[in-house]
Amino acid sequence: MSAGALEPPLVEARAVTKTFGRNEVLKGIDLAVRRGEVLCLLGPSGSGKSTFLRCINHLEKISGGELEVAGELVGYRRSGDSLHELREKEVAAKRAEIGMVFQRFNLFPHMTALENVMEAPVRVRGTKRAQAREEAVALLQRVGLADKADHHPSQLSGGQQQRVAIARALAMKPRLMLFDEPTSALDPELVGEVLDVMKGLARDGMTMVVVTHEIGFAREVADTVAFMDGGVIVEYGPPAQVLGDPREARTRAFLSKVL
Ligand code: ADP
Ligand code: MG
Repeated sequence: MSAGALEPPLVEARAVTKTFGRNEVLKGIDLAVRRGEVLCLLGPSGSGKSTFLRCINHLEKISGGELEVAGELVGYRRSGDSLHELREKEVAAKRAEIGMVFQRFNLFPHMTALENVMEAPVRVRGTKRAQAREEAVALLQRVGLADKADHHPSQLSGGQQQRVAIARALAMKPRLMLFDEPTSALDPELVGEVLDVMKGLARDGMTMVVVTHEIGFAREVADTVAFMDGGVIVEYGPPAQVLGDPREARTRAFLSKVL
């Protein structure tokens, strides 16, 4: 049982829809992620996985349904009986509570690994540089890159850059980490080192939503696996069931392609 089993979920989606123009990309997503849990989101390209992550992180607005993070409706503030849309500044503050790691590492090329990790705490939170540096050193150690602190991104492999990106996200002490295909852009021999860092985070109790095609990772680390196709969750459950004994033909067809 996870640490948060008796609390309301950290992420809860109820009938969430998202439409771009006339294209309904999310068609009623229901799911819950409890504190300390790892949810792996699988599914073919175009099924709406990134859009869903972007909704959790205030990068897209949902079109219908309800989406809550830490008991608060995403994008809104409650005052008394009424809901108010968050202002831009408030959205930025909310977004800072969630770490996101993308397929592309998006590090600042002119900064060292250490400076990349220090940047947001100093700029967004006003953390003193000495303290931010100390924390960044510890985070680089945690992702196995203590010896690369003074390297620029161009001097690092893709796997190392992605580990710096994870450290950078952790520097904001997020309550939730979102990963959008974090290993898809990596050479195969570099995938393992990034997955190992993610496994360590999961072991330490981080709540994570991970979009990935790494079935082995999902099998080992996920508490729940959701298989998404065409904007709906086709199958949802523990990895042993969804991956080991899928009920739905669409899940089986997908797994036979990625395994
Ligand atoms: P996945 O991550 O599963 O590959 P996405 O969430 O990226 O899927 O995309 C789902 C669908 O939403 C696709 O058809 C894509 O073209 C569409 N889509 C995503 N973002 C936008 C956008 N900003 N404007 C219009 N359509 C979009
Ligand atoms: Mg995507």
